Amino acid sequence: MDQLDVSESFDVHEYRHGLKLLKDDRGTMTLSNRQGFACPACGNEFETLFISEKRTNTFGDPGSPFCLVRTDDQLLVLTH
Ligand SMILES: [Zn+2]
Repeated sequence: MDQLDVSESFDVHEYRHGLKLLKDDRGTMTLSNRQGFACPACGNEFETLFISEKRTNTFGDPGSPFCLVRTDDQLLVLTH
C-alpha cells in the first residue's frame, strides 16, 4: 500500500491516477481515495483527502475518525 509522501509539500499530481477529485475550491481540494493509498499519519487506508492552503478552515461533523497532517504549506485532513 502506497503511503502519501508529505515530507515537504504534498504534490497531488503525483497521486492523481488514484485520487478522484470531488471538489476544487479556492485554496482547498477534496479527493476520494480510489487506489487504497495509506494515510501518512496512521498508516491505514483513508477514504477522503482534504487539502488546504488556507490559514483557517472550518468543518462540520466529519462523522468518522480523521487524521491531520501538516506539510510545509498545507493542511491535510484524512477521513477514515
Ligand atoms: Zn489516518
